Amino acid sequence: MSTSERRYSFEFFPAKTEAGHEKLLATARQLAAYQPDFFSCTYGAGGSTRDRTLNTVLELDQQVKIPTAPHLSCIGDSKAELRSLLNTYQQGGIRRIVALRGDLPSGMGLASGELRFANDLVAFIRAETGDHFHIEVAAYPEMHPQARHLEDDLVNFVRKAKAGADSAITQYFFNADCYFYFVERVRKLGVEIPIVPGIMPITNYSKLARFSDSCGTEIPRWIRKQLEAYGDDMDSITAFGEEVITRMCEQLLAGGAPGLHFYTLNQAEPSLALWRNLGLPR
Ligand code: FAD
Repeated sequence: MSTSERRYSFEFFPAKTEAGHEKLLATARQLAAYQPDFFSCTYGAGGSTRDRTLNTVLELDQQVKIPTAPHLSCIGDSKAELRSLLNTYQQGGIRRIVALRGDLPSGMGLASGELRFANDLVAFIRAETGDHFHIEVAAYPEMHPQARHLEDDLVNFVRKAKAGADSAITQYFFNADCYFYFVERVRKLGVEIPIVPGIMPITNYSKLARFSDSCGTEIPRWIRKQLEAYGDDMDSITAFGEEVITRMCEQLLAGGAPGLHFYTLNQAEPSLALWRNLGLPR
């Protein structure tokens, strides 16, 4: 794949406070200078960030002027709520959407919502809006934590593609082999949609360890040990993390990955450091 065909994107979460929102906008403006293909903004399953996600997406898209994709999850929302959001996004000129099942916050129960899985949401978006949206779905090279085994998860991934997804973004991982193996298995099942690696910069070990446990990402022992050894030495953690993730991204791109999607956590510098190290276009 030629360099120019690859796509690069940055993900944000909607801020809870005015100050957080200002910081998000400053970060987005800084990243916009690198002309990514798109931004995306997460959605709290069950609608907990409905308005904040909506407002952030429209602001990034219309004022920062980078096409912005809302994440939309189905697990706690009714069809009427999803339909209304889709209409608003469509009218706001949004053309890309990240369709997810989502994870309900604890206490909200499991069976709420009329659509159970992301493939149901993809089919619903297609039925409601035809080809208006480019639909992204999630992929899990290390398996979704609730999947019984890889075969099941692959079949479920294929279901999302067949329901009408155009491309996929992966959960983050620290081992390029699992990505290549996943893509190979998906291709053998006849699905050709681009699968873009999701990249998590390493900046804070304890947060990363907690989050990785919950989303099923393995931190390889040699990385974990090294990060633990640095303790509170944030400069060393950042430098080591940057080196390790840059190398993994190089491997991914050399092996044919169709782009990179950076989980920014609303900070510009960790993703930009990788961007510069990789010599990505400005
Ligand atoms: P699904 O594809 O529906 O899969 C969920 C589980 O069910 C898997 O184990 C799968 O194997 C199984 N499964 C799928 N379909 C079926 C079926 N038809 N029958 C039986 N089993 C099935 N979460 C948020 O809440 N908000 C966000 O903004 C958000 N953004 C994300 C962005 C990316 C790029 C990624 C990778 C994840 C994101 N998540 C987000 C997390 C995601 O919502 C969780 O991982 C969630 O648990 C699964 O969502 P999914 O869309 O992958 O679900």
